Amino acid sequence: MKTDLDTNDDSQADMEVAPPRLNHAFLEELGTEQISRRSFKKWERIMHSHGACVQEIWELRNTKLEKVTDVVIYPNSTEETERLVKLAVKHDVVLIPYGGGTNVTKSLLLNPDEQRMIVTVDTGRMNQIKWVDKENNMACVGAGMMGQDLERDLNKYGVCTGHEPDSSEFSTMGGWISTRASGMKKNTYGNIEDMLCNFTYVTPTGTYSKTQAWPRISNGPDLHHIVLGSEGNFGIITEATVRVRPVPQVKLYESMIFDNYEVGIKFMHAVSRTSSWPTSIRLVDNTQFQFGASLKPEENSKWNEFVDAAKKFYVTKIKGFDPNEMAACTMLFEGDETWARSAHKTICDLGKQFGGLIGGPENGMRGYLLTFLIAYTRDLAMQHNTLGESFELSCPWTKVSETTKRVRQ
Ligand SMILES: Cc1cc2nc3c(=O)[nH]c(=O)nc-3n(C[C@H](O)[C@H](O)[C@H](O)COP(=O)(O)OP(=O)(O)OC[C@H]3O[C@@H](n4cnc5c(N)ncnc54)[C@H](O)[C@@H]3O)c2cc1C
Repeated sequence: MKTDLDTNDDSQADMEVAPPRLNHAFLEELGTEQISRRSFKKWERIMHSHGACVQEIWELRNTKLEKVTDVVIYPNSTEETERLVKLAVKHDVVLIPYGGGTNVTKSLLLNPDEQRMIVTVDTGRMNQIKWVDKENNMACVGAGMMGQDLERDLNKYGVCTGHEPDSSEFSTMGGWISTRASGMKKNTYGNIEDMLCNFTYVTPTGTYSKTQAWPRISNGPDLHHIVLGSEGNFGIITEATVRVRPVPQVKLYESMIFDNYEVGIKFMHAVSRTSSWPTSIRLVDNTQFQFGASLKPEENSKWNEFVDAAKKFYVTKIKGFDPNEMAACTMLFEGDETWARSAHKTICDLGKQFGGLIGGPENGMRGYLLTFLIAYTRDLAMQHNTLGESFELSCPWTKVSETTKRVRQ
């Protein structure tokens, strides 16, 4: 990448922003009693006026945001949100729902020409589990609950959602629904749209919620699909009911090395035709493979150094893999033990048919965890005058090879 780690591009210490535009009638009627918290502080306004894509982070570090929200309000219930929405309609105020601010679609950027007062509605106080119904495999949670907190608290009941986007430390239930989020373990647990049973949705014309969180119904289009991915345009989600499953009995990590990326793609295609999909599976090309290896903590024991050298010798000299060509695949099998062990065996046997070498669970786990880190290396690189971005795309199997080649060019 030719990034010079000695050159530091320090981020700006301060940023000029216009003073908040105030709608006094709205603020007066809202009062100070019934809404749990509000803030006109400059940095709180700035932090609520952007998402996490590279242009936004660049502007934040180096220039300025064209438009900044006027006030941040933190309701802590559906009732408070309903009151806020009613008053916003009455006084012609713009409301922008806010979860964790991790979107990468510029969905929180504000229109610079907007003349009305803008209120960012931070859902962070609606961050609790309301109930867990283990009999019916459902849980109801506040829309502002962040992924990591959600899984930790659900685990206390012996259940989980299994939804794990790379941003799960910071992103929220409301944000996931509003951006149709996908998690790394979707092969087993589904995407957010597969988990969602019901939600409470506060809109300018009333509050929507199904009378029962029924699993599915076969008449007419499902309103969920209008809200999923709607980026806060029609209303504010205050709580959601999602499917949960028992905490998995086992988590089996695994990794395989292939001669080159093309062989890896063929293996992935073959996996897609089995009925033993790993909970998570990722193929990384040689550049990412080497990058991942460079982040590996240094081994401080002579024995580990010796084992590493022996492994390298076996892979490159005996098996004949070219270190500048080989690709790696990391996998996770999570769930009931019988299923996990059997799927693990099926997929490893399949990998061997493509000349794959087993790399072991430790590398599998390291590779899985690396995907959480990889997106943030962009911010580290930016500090050293290097721009980078991670993005996702989907394409048919027949185009995978060509698409990845073109992306690399
Ligand atoms: C490091 C990193 C890794 C990522 N990995 C993944 C990944 O693996 N999978 C994936 O799908 N995405 C990923 N993303 C993108 C992002 O995390 C998702 O889009 C996430 O769902 C956004 O959630 P949020 O709570 O941060 O929402 P925000 O960014 O706060 O908001 C996103 C949009 O939803 C609206 N919104 C938020 N809350 C509500 C609500 N309660 N009611 C109505 N509208 C609301 C906002 O107005 C905005 O339009 C990643 C982002 C980063 C920075």
